[in-house]
Amino acid sequence: MTFNILWLQAGSCGGCTMAALTAQDRGMLAALKPFDVNVLWHPALSLESGQEAVAILQNVLDGKVVVDALCVEGSVLRGPHGSGKFQMMPGTERSMAAWIKDLAQQARYVIAVGTCSAFGGLPMAGGNPTDACGLQYEGDAAGGLLGREFVSKEGMPVINVAGCAPHPDWITETLSLLAAGRLTRERLDVRARPRFFADHLAHHGCSRNEYYEFKASASQFSQLGCMMENMGCKATQAVGDCNLRSWNGAKGGCPDAGFPCIACTSPGFETPKGSFQETSKRAGIPVGLPVDMPKAWFMALAALSKSATPKRVLNNAASDHVVVPPARENES
Ligand code: SF4
Ligand code: SF4
Repeated sequence: MTFNILWLQAGSCGGCTMAALTAQDRGMLAALKPFDVNVLWHPALSLESGQEAVAILQNVLDGKVVVDALCVEGSVLRGPHGSGKFQMMPGTERSMAAWIKDLAQQARYVIAVGTCSAFGGLPMAGGNPTDACGLQYEGDAAGGLLGREFVSKEGMPVINVAGCAPHPDWITETLSLLAAGRLTRERLDVRARPRFFADHLAHHGCSRNEYYEFKASASQFSQLGCMMENMGCKATQAVGDCNLRSWNGAKGGCPDAGFPCIACTSPGFETPKGSFQETSKRAGIPVGLPVDMPKAWFMALAALSKSATPKRVLNNAASDHVVVPPARENES
């Protein structure tokens, strides 16, 4: 049976659509074809614009067309003064917030594509001048535009495909699982992110794992060492299987590409305690420690690891290429 999706862009940079267009190297539409997914309307991909587009939305509101998944990209801008007028739906007298609120009542599933629509994201930074929020969260607090108690027609909360931007496969896998009737509430984590990616940490699969184990750290870009100690990498605390997948045809996510993880799948990532690229510390100890690890254990393990760091790892960590290869004598 055809699975209809309707995609709206709220307060968004369009990056989540850009991500979706790279899915599986052939784009979201091709990737979803085997699941009989039909895009009712997408602001960047559909031919309809103006009143033709409004007519599609109105047909959904009137119950003439079933929308299986309402996908919203971008934060909902509620300002000024709760009017939502910072973002009006072109060709209508209504705010985007009002359209989303009404269309969500008609949808079998509602999907927040990206951290902005999930938790508020970047538009909430800097004092949140547009009164931005997510669909069902405002930062870490449940609520947002639709409210804590909202469930879609299938009894599901808003499904948060978090990430800035999310990995394209997270978008297409969520939609294909829904189309196949295989994404249930139990398969969402505590913040309603699909567990197929949220049960991992972004740290998993990073090519710098050996440097992490020995606490051999990079102190500037291009160096090979682990970026947790000095350069703000939060991958040991951020959910996502980013480094276990390929991105744009290349291996791994941000740390593999040489950039510290900024925990873009988490609420509040947009307002770090310090700089994005510098590790916040208290008494010389990183403020953000790996999940599941008591501080005392981390301290003890870090001290032990540092005392046992092989010279090869130590030297390579501070270099932009391997300067000391692995020893050959024990080679079998
Ligand atoms: S750079 Fe980040 S992701 Fe890579 S090993 Fe270090 S903490 Fe983990
Ligand atoms: S590695 Fe971190 S910043 Fe990069 S996509 Fe994954 S969670 Fe986001």
